[in-house]
Amino acid sequence: MKVFRRAKALRSYLAQRRSAVALVPTMGALHAGHLSLVKRAKQDAGQVVVSIFVNPTQFGPREDFKAYPRDLVADVRLLATCGPLAVYAPDVSEIYPRGFSSQIQVHGPLAKVMEAKARPGHFDGVATVVARLFGLVQARRAYFGLKDYQQFRVISRMTHDLGLPVRLIGCPTLRAKDGLALSSRNAYLSADERAVAPCLRQALLAVAAELRRGQRDPRKALALGRRSLGRSRLGRLQYLEIGSADDLAPLKRAQGKLVIAGAFWLGKARLIDNLVVNL
Ligand code: AMP
Repeated sequence: MKVFRRAKALRSYLAQRRSAVALVPTMGALHAGHLSLVKRAKQDAGQVVVSIFVNPTQFGPREDFKAYPRDLVADVRLLATCGPLAVYAPDVSEIYPRGFSSQIQVHGPLAKVMEAKARPGHFDGVATVVARLFGLVQARRAYFGLKDYQQFRVISRMTHDLGLPVRLIGCPTLRAKDGLALSSRNAYLSADERAVAPCLRQALLAVAAELRRGQRDPRKALALGRRSLGRSRLGRLQYLEIGSADDLAPLKRAQGKLVIAGAFWLGKARLIDNLVVNL
């Protein structure tokens, strides 16, 4: 296990070994979901770099940037269970050095609905840091979780639009036994909140079942999920929406490949989840 603070040192280490580089970008506080991406990257061969960087520019002013869990020692220990790889853990000053003046702006439906609407500016921050990481690490492949479905679509769009020579691989969501998607933010949940946390996933499944039964009006299908989440004593639904699986644009009629996605506040934790359905 090699840990690098600087991209220059990382690149010269990678260059010595000459095989293609795969990148797994993360914000640390690693869990089995992150490790599933790392394992997939390792299976695909080549050298694997896991970046750990809590990116300030993707957090809103009232979001949890400061509170976000950080423990590099624990992260490196966990990554060591995946076999040899390189960790890139830069400081903010390396990613955004003095004079840094560029930013990617995401437009279109992807930038208007769901997470983009709930977290203004979030995807501009994500797209910018991912483009910067692609440039610094010079990876040939990059692995992302489909738990953050909209993020994956934004990064796919950006990579295509800018003609970046990186192949993206979207990986399935790893869940706890009760269906809750693993997330670093689950650490914020109290025992009571954790017990009800699978409700978001259950609402998505209920909406999907309604669509599969033949309901083609997205609003009617969503009403079912909204009702079940609305009954929660502890949490608060932020949004539950259906969009085209490609660009997340809202649909008048549910058909083809679509995504049902939601965000649910539970105490200090903001849970997000989604389900892709092919009708
Ligand atoms: P994060 O550290 O939350 O920015 O996540 C880093 C990467 O891990 C992103 O591509 C996430 O989509 C992915 N990821 C997070 N949680 C999971 C999960 N439960 N299953 C699979 N991938 C995940």
